[in-house]
Amino acid sequence: MATNKSAFSRRSFIKGMVGAGVAGLLPCRFLVPQAQAAAFDPEEFQVFRNACPRNCYDTCSIKTYVKDGVVRFIEGAPESTFTRGGLCVKGYAYTRRPYSPDRVKYPMVQDGRRSGKWRRVSWDEAMDKIARKILELKEQDGNLLGLGMTKYSGNFGITNYAVEGLMSSLGYTTRFVGTPCWPAGIDAQNYDMGNMWCNDPEDMVKSKYIIIWGANPAWCSVHTMKYIMEAKRRGAKVVVVDPVFTQTAAKGDVYWQPKTASDGALALGMARHILDKGMVDRNFTDNHGLGFGEFADYLRGNVTVEWAAEQSGIPAEEIRQVAEEFASADPATIWIGYGMQRHTNGGASVRSIDALVAMTGNVGKEGGGARYGHLQTWGFNYNAMIQQKPEGSVGFVGGAAKGEFDFTSGSEASYSDRTVNINKTAQNILDTKDPALRMLWVSCKNPFGQDFDRPKLEKAFDTLEMVVTVDQFFNETVANSDIVLPVTTLFEEWTVNASYWHYWLGLNEQAIKPMYEAKSNIEIGMALSRKMNELSPGSCTFPQEPDTREWMAKEFNQGIYDLFGIDDWTALKNGPVKAKLASSASWSTFQFGTPSGKYEFRSDICKDNGHMALPEYMEPRKSYDKFRLLTPHTKFAIHSQFLNLDWMQEYDKQPYLYMHPEAAAEKGIKDLDMVRVFNKVGEQKVVAKLTTNVAKDCLLIYEAWFGKGSTFNVQNLVDDESADMGEYKAGAPGVAIHDQFADVEKA
Ligand code: SF4
Repeated sequence: MATNKSAFSRRSFIKGMVGAGVAGLLPCRFLVPQAQAAAFDPEEFQVFRNACPRNCYDTCSIKTYVKDGVVRFIEGAPESTFTRGGLCVKGYAYTRRPYSPDRVKYPMVQDGRRSGKWRRVSWDEAMDKIARKILELKEQDGNLLGLGMTKYSGNFGITNYAVEGLMSSLGYTTRFVGTPCWPAGIDAQNYDMGNMWCNDPEDMVKSKYIIIWGANPAWCSVHTMKYIMEAKRRGAKVVVVDPVFTQTAAKGDVYWQPKTASDGALALGMARHILDKGMVDRNFTDNHGLGFGEFADYLRGNVTVEWAAEQSGIPAEEIRQVAEEFASADPATIWIGYGMQRHTNGGASVRSIDALVAMTGNVGKEGGGARYGHLQTWGFNYNAMIQQKPEGSVGFVGGAAKGEFDFTSGSEASYSDRTVNINKTAQNILDTKDPALRMLWVSCKNPFGQDFDRPKLEKAFDTLEMVVTVDQFFNETVANSDIVLPVTTLFEEWTVNASYWHYWLGLNEQAIKPMYEAKSNIEIGMALSRKMNELSPGSCTFPQEPDTREWMAKEFNQGIYDLFGIDDWTALKNGPVKAKLASSASWSTFQFGTPSGKYEFRSDICKDNGHMALPEYMEPRKSYDKFRLLTPHTKFAIHSQFLNLDWMQEYDKQPYLYMHPEAAAEKGIKDLDMVRVFNKVGEQKVVAKLTTNVAKDCLLIYEAWFGKGSTFNVQNLVDDESADMGEYKAGAPGVAIHDQFADVEKA
């Protein structure tokens, strides 16, 4: 039966891939899988609602068709005007995940890290080993701060905050906090506007001028492409700014390939020209802005278009032309991608681009906006995360402020969890003392795939006495663990997903029974709680038995119901719902969240936090090797997810280094030569592909994991240098992923 169902699903996937591949180049209406739908009689299937839990702009609502307890077919939810029946190539590969032969099927113990000597154990045996180690830590250290938890966005379903909840239910622990994704930009937008809040992406159809600055939606947000293409059909001009000529760039009217990390200079050069031409929206700057006069003085005193041209490599005349076109279009918008703030000057650059949008009066306008992201629809109860510490828990004194969900009082009120920067995982494992980190719990994350300085991370993991990883596949973090626990896929668990980009809300129902012995993060927490209390009554407060559907109800509140116009969460079984927005524009009332209530061209909070008060230019990180090294996501993967699947590898079999033919010629490298890329962090052998899509001074390697047996890992070449901003709102600075440098030679 397994063979038949896999073959059946694989054909569906290939058809979907054709649609999704086209989506990279064409509007997403082409994604509607009519050919697939025609092959099915929906009456034969049980239909469930799922929601893609990947860390992706699109957060697709999915319709899942199940027959005989097997997922047979999926499609994008047609009810959502955003998803509109389609998924991306990764989404269509989902049906392979629960049934992959490579899946972690049972709890397993490895006899010797990286030995590959895994043996199956029962859940009871696995929990016993883990619980005894936790109790040993507590006994020896007098607290549980030696237990660390690192978790990120491998599964964004809200109930997966049970991982944090489990740690809280054990006591005060060490948490890896912050985000590698977008913190510099979040801080920048908070300094400027008092929050990160973007327009509804569906209103891009109203835009007359769209600048896509450091984003590649043709790969990373395929559903947004249809709005961009529709705006284009209606006459909008599309400018793409990216150090790589991407599929999105191929669809633009103008393509700029600036020197990497010169975005701030480019934006300021445009701002200076708009100022000189008298094209500033004085109504906005006078009535809704603070400090524009100072910003204008800064521009006049420090910025010229010629200087911006020299810094960015974009000709001055082109800067002038685009600046004038942008300022005269109504409305005009800029999509600020996350890649462009992953620099040591990333936050400063975002502030400069925000200022460009604001000074032209495009903030607060439908079809306008400085689009970065939002968390407006994330007002859940986070019930899974809220767990009481066991009585008598001893924590960290003098650390981070008490958390929102910390209910301790009296002498315990001074305790907190210990927090360390998630973007310096390796260094923090090595450096943290009193007590040292001795045990690590990894969930919804693959540190070896997505954290930085992999060689150092391996050394750091070797200092840990026990590593427990909760995962679906035997990735490199699992190889560096002692115990792996099998976790459910989206089809096997209940949860709910919101987006940080669009305004739809999607339910994720359990569509099939968990395969093999997989458990959800909630169920894993319950299993550990049972064992902890068996061995040491009262040592864990995590609930032990409730039905996981009950956890769903506890995540919702009247605010969410009102925002989405539903009476109960079960209404989501009928399909995704969209927030009832007063306007598709963020900040449409011009009541900003800053101290002044205005758009702050000059931010005193920014200055107090050690940055420049104005959106001034900040020098990029100094190069430490011959080429700049870029390691963005590929179309076929998000970090280590998806490309390990055999189906996906039919389309993308191996990694490549992409470099410019002239740079390659200087190094004696020919197309498809095996090369060695190396820098101060480490090295990586990979096959070279020559392309003029990459600038002469850049090397490009897409980040992905190609499955068991593959030793490819771009984190062998990426250090953990911090971005300029991020600590204000995310708790730790971002990481300068794209300020990396390396050399290359023929292997
Ligand atoms: S990865 Fe993104 S675009 Fe693809 S199915 Fe998931 S949410 Fe949709």
